[in-house]
Amino acid sequence: MKTENDSRQTILEGIGASPGICIGKAYLVDKEGVDVIKKYYISDDQLDNEKNRFKSAVKKAKDELHQIIEDIPDDLRENADILETHVVLLKDKMLYGRAIKTIEQDRVNAEWALKKVVAGLKKKFNRLPDPFFRERVADIAHVSDRILRSLAGVDKVKIKDIDKRVILVAEDLSPAETSQIQLEKIKGIVTDAGGVASHTGIIARTLEIPALLGLENATSVIQGDDLIIVDGTEGKLILSPTEQTLLEYEERIHEYEIQKAFLNRESHVSAKTKDGVVIKVMGNIELPEEVVSVKTYGGDGIGLYRTEFQYLARNNFPSEFELFDKYRDVVEVMAPQPVTIRTLDINGDKAVSYTTSHDETNPALGLRAIRYCLKKPDIFKTQLKAILRAAAFGNVRILFPMISCYDEVIEAKRMLDVAAQALEDEDRPYRRDIEIGIMMEVPSAVIIADILAKEVDFFSIGTNDLIQYSLAIDRVNRQVAHLYNPLHPSIIRMVKRVSDVAKENNIKVFMCGEMAAHPIHVPILLGLSIDELSMNPQSIPAVKSMIRSLDTKSSASFIDEVMEQKTSEDVMELTQRKYAKILAENVYFH
Ligand code: PEP
Ligand code: MG
Repeated sequence: MKTENDSRQTILEGIGASPGICIGKAYLVDKEGVDVIKKYYISDDQLDNEKNRFKSAVKKAKDELHQIIEDIPDDLRENADILETHVVLLKDKMLYGRAIKTIEQDRVNAEWALKKVVAGLKKKFNRLPDPFFRERVADIAHVSDRILRSLAGVDKVKIKDIDKRVILVAEDLSPAETSQIQLEKIKGIVTDAGGVASHTGIIARTLEIPALLGLENATSVIQGDDLIIVDGTEGKLILSPTEQTLLEYEERIHEYEIQKAFLNRESHVSAKTKDGVVIKVMGNIELPEEVVSVKTYGGDGIGLYRTEFQYLARNNFPSEFELFDKYRDVVEVMAPQPVTIRTLDINGDKAVSYTTSHDETNPALGLRAIRYCLKKPDIFKTQLKAILRAAAFGNVRILFPMISCYDEVIEAKRMLDVAAQALEDEDRPYRRDIEIGIMMEVPSAVIIADILAKEVDFFSIGTNDLIQYSLAIDRVNRQVAHLYNPLHPSIIRMVKRVSDVAKENNIKVFMCGEMAAHPIHVPILLGLSIDELSMNPQSIPAVKSMIRSLDTKSSASFIDEVMEQKTSEDVMELTQRKYAKILAENVYFH
């Protein structure tokens, strides 16, 4: 936090989870009533009573959730799934069952038992490296918060009852709360907790309202009715802005709206460079429902479908039919455009409550993604069958994550044959002649790219992990976030190697990591001849617009200069200098 020249104006920095700017009064969503949990012991004859008190609190919480689900407006219907998940979680063995057991065994009050169970679960989930799984801690916290509230008889502020235009400021917002947001009332969202992958971020992006998450101390610094500016694009909050700052941001809102409207209008046309090369700009999705955003923002297909989201917050593995049903929906909506379905990328079975658990000291380097799938052939085969069946309904590509050696590719392809044979035996319609690709996100795969290229139809560069594994920077550790840089000369060299090898072997090369989502990286990616870029849907219009302002020949010669730079700062400076005018026209929207 830093204070500018005016003594009251304060700038807070957080994670910009949904772009855009809003100015308004803060509305603090209070959490009173459940913060202080007292422990007390219960006697044997109070035991049944205490268990029943817990059970009725769960029931009340469940009824409330059902009511919220019923009241969800149509345009947010897709988020009902998250709340259904919470209903399931209320009765989940790991939460409900363990809490009852703790009341029995420790002879403690229901609140304390629940607190103990939740603390244990949080610890376990927080050890997982993938931000998605760690975000699931938030689901557990929301559900337990709701039960605690009904145990204490406290009612939380109902967001749907807010009757003025405000910016919500909260420690955290549950999906139940976020889904009550009415666009005509809520201008923006600010939370202490959360990150880009949280449900709050996902919903804010769907609603297209600015969101700034992970501020850590917003609820203690900001008071109700304080005037604030939320800049979800730059990840900044300005508390008590000066007159001059206000004017400046009003102007920026105006420019932002004009540019957004302009880019969106253009976005449905394909992105062709000045010298006529068409670059496909695709969307990344986590949930099948997000396919709508890809369409809205003019995506040329799905470059990355992260399928792991369908395996979470449930009590068992999804069946082949459940998976097939969701994949088919996405494939049919996008047809004839391609849908790149990435096979399960979870970090070992710990992430999924219904499998056996093995603790890993270093989960990012553990039994993740393809390693997990090859160890669990039945789970893998079920997913592969579902993908091959969905492939009969449109244009499907399959993508294997976290490949680090040759054998994994061979084994994954063999499993695909096994799945196809099973479908053949069952006499089910399917399609086997789909393109097969691998994620290039582990440095060893980049080094042996020439060996791997002979086995696949395309490479997809996952810069999120490639940076993590190459620069030795935990992608979810805020302490080292400043070192996490896609323009590091080593990363540019690796992307170049993957692309060069792909061209030599006549296969395609895509990028689906976050690096692809930033207009400033586009001249470099064009220069490195990446065939397709895939990103969060909202970034598609700006990236397409950037592509239209460039030409491949000058980008190619620009790369020669880029390759001479010694640091990421040098690369950034060079890019900014060389493309100053074009960037000024394009980066604003992102
Ligand atoms: C990546 O690693 O760049 C990637 C796209 O995959 P994920 O973010 O799902 O790990
Ligand atoms: Mg990855």
